[in-house]
Amino acid sequence: MESATVFNIQKFSLDDGPGIRTVVFLKGCPLRCAWCANPESQRRAPQLEWKESACVGCGACCAAAPDAPVVEHGGRRHVDVRGLRGDTDQAQAAVRACPTHALTCIGETRTTDEVLRVCLQDKPFYDDSGGGVTLSGGEALTWPDFCLELIGRLREEGIDTCLETEGHVAPEVFRRIAPQLDHLLMDLKHVDPARLEAHVGADGQLMLANLRWAIAQGLDVLPRTPVVPGFNDDERDARAMARWLRDAGAARVQLLPFHNFGESKYALLDMPYTLRGATGLHPEDLEGFRQVYLSEGIEAFF
Ligand code: SF4
Repeated sequence: MESATVFNIQKFSLDDGPGIRTVVFLKGCPLRCAWCANPESQRRAPQLEWKESACVGCGACCAAAPDAPVVEHGGRRHVDVRGLRGDTDQAQAAVRACPTHALTCIGETRTTDEVLRVCLQDKPFYDDSGGGVTLSGGEALTWPDFCLELIGRLREEGIDTCLETEGHVAPEVFRRIAPQLDHLLMDLKHVDPARLEAHVGADGQLMLANLRWAIAQGLDVLPRTPVVPGFNDDERDARAMARWLRDAGAARVQLLPFHNFGESKYALLDMPYTLRGATGLHPEDLEGFRQVYLSEGIEAFF
């Protein structure tokens, strides 16, 4: 039986595909987008978080994990969450020893059986609302065998399946899995491969090629664009993306205005947040941006 690192199973989601859905979040992502709202999803292995406001600097974590690396913040010495995998004995000992729950572990290894059991709990809601289960991340397709097995078992149960993906995955893997799904929510972050590479640290050609292939196959694909200040929020960006979509055969796109709700998570993980101070966008800020798509024959909505 396949297993993967799962960091959240969120029930009653209304934003991740049709109807009421359970979203299974898998850890691991090949991209490093500066605007990532789930930085805890990037590393594949379970990892520790440290909550500064809860830490009293007692040192119990260091004593319980004597081989773990240590850092100091504001005079408080504690185990270094960046230097210790969350699934090691040292990490687990440190978490157990912390009297204030300042240390927690994000992600745990779960089998398809365990995840399916949770998903089945809400089947009546899926049936009533036209919903189902969505695989997300991170990049869920970094766990291709787990995804294939879980999708197959969900389908056996008559449950609708959806995948949220950046599309940064080997074409042979993508082409094996994508047709098994009822819906695909695929990122289109930009259409300039060099810009993609510079801003997300990954092969932009690969993402674009997979999205183009999925559309050409007639799969139920909803392209989605996170609109990020200074990256792709210019109306020239909108025109380039709208024309790319039209040429690829897409008719619509969902625009996801940048928000900084994930900023506080970076501190928990002791990671730098490079968009600190950037202002969140709202649909009303992007009406001109949206109109560009409409003028190119692409239905753009929020
Ligand atoms: S055990 Fe918890 S409260 Fe004590 S130093 Fe470590 S993280 Fe802080």
